[in-house]
Amino acid sequence: MTIKVTVDREACIACGVAPTLCSEVFVLEEKNRVVDEYTVELTESLSVGEVPDELRECVENAAASCPVEAIKVEG
Ligand code: SF4
Repeated sequence: MTIKVTVDREACIACGVAPTLCSEVFVLEEKNRVVDEYTVELTESLSVGEVPDELRECVENAAASCPVEAIKVEG
């Protein structure tokens, strides 16, 4: 089982919270994005990943802590 994670890289203000709280899934590269291992789509404005269900808590914690609500979790 995987969950879909979408980062709105235009909204992201590169605060560093997501990669700090969940480095297994996020990396800061000018803006936040999903790490290569889980990436299914990456553009300047969007990063989409399919992430193992085991990392759900980590991802949801990062999403809830994002000050601009740039991380969406589905599935
Ligand atoms: S918490 Fe939000 S604003 Fe901060 S780096 Fe992550 S996506 Fe960007």
